[in-house]
Amino acid sequence: MVEEVAEKVYHVDVLEGIENGIVSAYILDFDDVAIIDPGPAAGYKNILKALDELEIEKRRVKYLVATHIHIDHSGNCGHLVKELPEAKVIVHPKGAKHLIDPERLWVSSKSVLGPIADLYEKPLPVPESRVMKVEDMERIDLGGDVLLCMHAPGHTAHHVAYYLESSKILFPSDAAGVYTHKTLLPATPPPFELDQALKSLEKLMELDVKFVAFTHFGAAENGKLLKRAYDKLVRWAKIAEEVVKEGGDHSDMFKRLMNEDEDVKGLAEKYQGSDTALGHVLVNIFGMLDYVRRKQT
Ligand SMILES: [Zn+2]
Repeated sequence: MVEEVAEKVYHVDVLEGIENGIVSAYILDFDDVAIIDPGPAAGYKNILKALDELEIEKRRVKYLVATHIHIDHSGNCGHLVKELPEAKVIVHPKGAKHLIDPERLWVSSKSVLGPIADLYEKPLPVPESRVMKVEDMERIDLGGDVLLCMHAPGHTAHHVAYYLESSKILFPSDAAGVYTHKTLLPATPPPFELDQALKSLEKLMELDVKFVAFTHFGAAENGKLLKRAYDKLVRWAKIAEEVVKEGGDHSDMFKRLMNEDEDVKGLAEKYQGSDTALGHVLVNIFGMLDYVRRKQT
């Protein structure tokens, strides 16, 4: 379940045994231990198991680092702060209230994600005293490396990307899309903001990145992944504009992507019949179409 991806940086398949290979967390085992995107409520026991396996004492975990408050990324923080006595949850100032009171977030997750929300399970509230808001470009010294917090809105208004400075590892989370089996898909659920998302990616592309550590799913050599994510957003937006102009809907956009986007085609073939996989593509199509329509009115 736990795999070393760089010195002191470990990958955890958070939903292993439930739905393997869709949600990653990263344990940074420096003097102060941090966990990037601890994952959905359903996976909190796997995080504890991973800490056990790495022989990391619970009180050494100082930070649960939420890239954003979507339930697949930080839905288990409420469970984990009960188990990890010293841990604070790091989050964008705009996201904090949804960790403290996840009720509205849960209702909207159910409506956007449908049965996928049930797979992730319902978050528990995080006590306000355990929440730590981070400003843009704030640096957190972990003792052995420094975590740079970069606000990266677009996917959501409260998205933060993190960069481990000496290790040169970027945790872009959904700001760089979803990368599985070498396919890269935009993560653009409603309410998506394209202009902000592109600006965020431009900011991340200025960093010297050795590895891109995705939440969905796993760490990859940088190559040109961020540029690829950028180009793909531009391309999807163009297709969405054309579909809207022609009076089309999500199924028309899906058909066009099946013809024009190798990654969508590959994913659809690989996961034939899987509602979870297709659901992920569709929710992003909805978001992009919604953005285009909002722009036009
Ligand atoms: Zn998200």
